[in-house]
Amino acid sequence: MNDVETGEHVGTHMDAPAHFCRGKWHVNDIPPERLIGPAVMVDIRYKASLDTPDVNVTLEDLQNWEMQYGRIPDGAVVFMCSGWYEHYDNETIYKGNDVGDLSDYHFPGFDPEGAQWLFEERKAIGVGSDSPSTDYGASQTFPSHLIICGHDAFGLENVKNTCLLPPNGAMAYVFPIKSDGGSGGPTRVMAVWGDEHPTTSTPAPEGSNEDLTTTARGNDNQDKATCGASSIPEEFPCVLIGLMMTAQINLRWY
Ligand SMILES: [Zn+2]
Repeated sequence: MNDVETGEHVGTHMDAPAHFCRGKWHVNDIPPERLIGPAVMVDIRYKASLDTPDVNVTLEDLQNWEMQYGRIPDGAVVFMCSGWYEHYDNETIYKGNDVGDLSDYHFPGFDPEGAQWLFEERKAIGVGSDSPSTDYGASQTFPSHLIICGHDAFGLENVKNTCLLPPNGAMAYVFPIKSDGGSGGPTRVMAVWGDEHPTTSTPAPEGSNEDLTTTARGNDNQDKATCGASSIPEEFPCVLIGLMMTAQINLRWY
């Protein structure tokens, strides 16, 4: 057996409302119905690049999403797809520098105007960034963190594989470690969806450590066992992906 020791805000993790808002829910206080909701994927890869890391999911991006896909459902978990998770193993690129200089961080996030609208007008239960933070790296005041917690919502950070989600039609399941009084914690994030949104992703290479599982129950040519969860009932949606980075959790054998 191991003892487990971990920071709360490492790897793929949740910022519970109490992280930035005094008196709001700690991670163990968040009710289950605020951890499961429709997944919305907003693709901002068109503007996020190594030369332009300081970009955001803006109100305009969200409104453009609605023009294409319809109204964002109430109670959604809105994921940013900037593609930034691809740089997770290179801290200099992923954060902007590898010396912990917060004044020189550069990566995408959610801008406050868009976040405000999501929580006020669309009653989102949370957002997920595929970068280190829900506020973009250049922020020094973390306005989106304050908006998120002010609406009893959660922020997910370092979420991987967000760009494998369909824009709409998936359900997100968000399972943070339930630590008593925690301001957040490592979080397993999953999304499932059905035949109508076949993934266009390339599956993880053989033997890779990707937390990624795909199957296609609608396709008879696919071996159903490839979903890696053969105990899932037949009627379960056909695609299941994991959105968690390998966690940086220290285990101590005893
Ligand atoms: Zn955090």
